[in-house]
Amino acid sequence: MRIELLTTGTELMLGTTQNTHGAWIGQRLFALGLRVDRQITVPDGPPVVESIRLGIEDGDVLIVTGGLGPTSDDLTREALSEVLGVEMIEDEGALRTMEEFFASRGRRMAEVNRKQAMALVGADILPNPNGTAPGLYVPPRMSGEHHCAVFLLPGPPREMYPMFDAEVVPRLEALAGIEKPPEMLELKFVGIGESDFHQEVDAQLKAIAGLEHGYCARLGEVDLRLIGSAEAVTEAQTIIEDTFAQQLVSSDGAILEEVVVRLLKEQGKSVATAESCTGGLIAARLTDVSGASEVFRYGFVTYANEAKRDLLGVNWEDLLEHGAVSEPVARQMAEGALRVGEAEVAVAVTGIAGPTGGTESKPVGTVFLGVAVKGEETKVLKQFHPWGREAFKRQVSQAALNLVRRALGA
Ligand code: ATP
Ligand code: MG
Repeated sequence: MRIELLTTGTELMLGTTQNTHGAWIGQRLFALGLRVDRQITVPDGPPVVESIRLGIEDGDVLIVTGGLGPTSDDLTREALSEVLGVEMIEDEGALRTMEEFFASRGRRMAEVNRKQAMALVGADILPNPNGTAPGLYVPPRMSGEHHCAVFLLPGPPREMYPMFDAEVVPRLEALAGIEKPPEMLELKFVGIGESDFHQEVDAQLKAIAGLEHGYCARLGEVDLRLIGSAEAVTEAQTIIEDTFAQQLVSSDGAILEEVVVRLLKEQGKSVATAESCTGGLIAARLTDVSGASEVFRYGFVTYANEAKRDLLGVNWEDLLEHGAVSEPVARQMAEGALRVGEAEVAVAVTGIAGPTGGTESKPVGTVFLGVAVKGEETKVLKQFHPWGREAFKRQVSQAALNLVRRALGA
């Protein structure tokens, strides 16, 4: 089954919006054992018509994103109607749903939105619970000899993603005759790299019949994807969990901060953070998780020496003698956060993000991480992440959250 993906939007060509739909849809299809054969990106306007024509000619399935909005540059529906020579009519159900969408938010629907209820005759309306523009599904018979199924989906990810899962996936499964999609398992790891997998488990995984495995590495973390029969996936999972138990963050798609919050909740504990070089990133990541208020009450951003002293009780002499980026300061920051923040676990980071501020003994990228646990001895770790300011902050926050995870016995 040949799948064509057409992503539309002038902003994608200008680079003001990064085209992430290709990647996201690619992953979703992959899990079904399908893949995108060609992706075309075009600006809003007339090029959409030509690309839809091409997609329908060459593909068995054409997925189009964007251009379902109310503005004059949103012309995907019209373009498809033109290519197929199929009339559009106002869909009463879609219109009512849109009016209710606005009413539930205390607003009246503007007249321009009305065109979003227009549908090609014979097409299915795909409900959009997260926005106004419904999607459309045009079954293969409507494109005559080309016999190409067409999906029109909204551009905003928060509207497109749920619609894809609810409306597109089941139709694709039916079109492709997939009765039992393969199992897919994603394991997330921190603190190891792709090369560790190659060295330790790659050969064993390759030997499992019917298993497809792939890695996705980001700074300081790796996702391992396992696809295949249930037996093959389970066999692989066992090998990997045995080899990398300590680095395994989750097997259910949960990201590090979600796992940390979940562990804290389960154990009825709270965490406090004391951050210098990460400027609050660790706290931000924890509070990105819904329900964080149950486990997170204090986050200190103590950038200046005075702040470390006044808020966390770090010893002034130690600051002067050892410098802010040092073992004793990281230790005292963690202990201060634990005490002042009335928490069971506290993590502290102090380092040199760069590009300036490095010295011979403490080059850019140096960081000390402290983790204090009530009733236990505080641990301090020195790490080195010399890959630029942004990467440094991300890596340090990753390491800090992982320390908390490990301190919670995971
Ligand atoms: P709207 O009602 O918001 O106009 P629409 O269906 O017309 O919806 P677009 O106008 O094409 O969609 O896109 C709306 C927004 O969705 C864009 O500003 C962008 O933020 C996001 N978006 C669109 N296409 C992509 C893409 N390929 N990758 C990532 N984001 C995208
Ligand atoms: Mg738009």
